[in-house]
Amino acid sequence: MVKRDVIIVGAGHGGAQAAMALRQHKYAGSIAIIGEEPEIPYERPPLSKEYLSGDKAFERILIRPPGFWAERDIEIRTDVRVTHVDADAGTIRLGNGEEMAYGELIWAAGGHARKLTCSGHDLIGVHSVRSRADVDSISSHLRTASRVVVIGGGYIGLEAAAVLTKFGKSVTVLEAQDRVLARVAGVALSRFYEAEHRAHGVDMRLGTQVDCLLGDGHRVTGVRIADGSVIPADMVIVGIGIVPAVEPLLSAGARGGNGVAVDEHCRTSLPHIFAIGDCAMHANAFAQGLPIRLESVQNANDMATTTAKVIAGFVEPYHAVPWFWSNQYDLKLQTVGLSAGHDEEVVRGDPATRSFSIVYLKQHAVVAIDAINAVKDFVQGKALVTGAVRAKSSDLADATIPLKSLAAIP
Ligand SMILES: Cc1cc2nc3c(=O)[nH]c(=O)nc-3n(C[C@H](O)[C@H](O)[C@H](O)COP(=O)(O)OP(=O)(O)OC[C@H]3O[C@@H](n4cnc5c(N)ncnc54)[C@H](O)[C@@H]3O)c2cc1C
Repeated sequence: MVKRDVIIVGAGHGGAQAAMALRQHKYAGSIAIIGEEPEIPYERPPLSKEYLSGDKAFERILIRPPGFWAERDIEIRTDVRVTHVDADAGTIRLGNGEEMAYGELIWAAGGHARKLTCSGHDLIGVHSVRSRADVDSISSHLRTASRVVVIGGGYIGLEAAAVLTKFGKSVTVLEAQDRVLARVAGVALSRFYEAEHRAHGVDMRLGTQVDCLLGDGHRVTGVRIADGSVIPADMVIVGIGIVPAVEPLLSAGARGGNGVAVDEHCRTSLPHIFAIGDCAMHANAFAQGLPIRLESVQNANDMATTTAKVIAGFVEPYHAVPWFWSNQYDLKLQTVGLSAGHDEEVVRGDPATRSFSIVYLKQHAVVAIDAINAVKDFVQGKALVTGAVRAKSSDLADATIPLKSLAAIP
């Protein structure tokens, strides 16, 4: 049986960064990355942005050029899935039946797009936005689609809506909650983005439950919503989150549920098995120590680096401040911290200028900042979040007072 010192499952952001960080920290053992997608590691965020819009070709979203991996003696196997883990034996089984032994296993398998379960969910013309294959499929169907319904008003759905609107498509967004981005942002940001999308012609329907998808026996033709009315559609894009890809690990006995549980060194409950990125459930200091999964490039990369350092002998706990970005129209949102559980929102600057920030506080301490076309606030605000700085709302609201001057106050 083939053995590698480190096997990384998943050739996405976390998997790629783990391998790179191992080599950066002079790890000399053998490394193999095993990924189920046909591509070598590529960036996922452009899928709903510059890759969907056609502004970036696939080669420009590769995490590293093709020759990079072999030069660093990192083996990559694509198009093959890891189906079983035997933690006692220290082996994995691949979809092609092959078995491999590992010294350390890094599970970086992310998640798969959550599918609708209602009737019509599998009609032609119904798409997810998780992989290159998904977006290539959307692009090839777009030529013949003029009416698109986006189900889910999270970042991915809204980014897709913005691109498709630019393409001149008639776009409807259906969101079950009474505001978009409800899981990740406060009310002011939701209302701002709803207004922006409406101003660009998007039919934004909030508090709207999908009943089923309708088709002609083959292709999707519409979406029936809970009040019985039908929204005609040539294409449906489903952006309702992910299901963490952890089944083989849980079957092997790892602790978890909605993701696999890891400690501050990204170790699972199974020996010599780490988990990182979207699939890793960890106690996050910026979520008051609550166990959460973060779905961001920052989290995948920083957990990967933590794990690589542990394996290379530099043990440091994971304690990175969460950050994220989203591009819609000409709006660049940058977020630092986690706003969940905030008890106050302060709008800094004037949203009408389309350059402003929202500061989230919990018991008067800054827990997160959403900066819209406001890079300075994002950069300077990081210190306020990491230090959980207590600041007066009136000072935070005054855009003439730089955030860095507030961070300096003891
Ligand atoms: C359209 C889109 C836009 C996004 N935009 C942003 C953004 O603007 N900013 C941001 O910070 N984040 C963004 N994200 C989130 C970000 O891309 C993820 O958080 C990040 O990719 C997580 O990295 P990961 O390594 O955990 O998982 P992934 O990058 O998803 O990689 C996991 C890989 O493992 C593979 N895999 C799964 N199971 C197996 C198995 N059993 N065997 C082998 N391989 C397997 C998967 O197919 C996948 O290729 C976006 C995501 C999407 C889909």
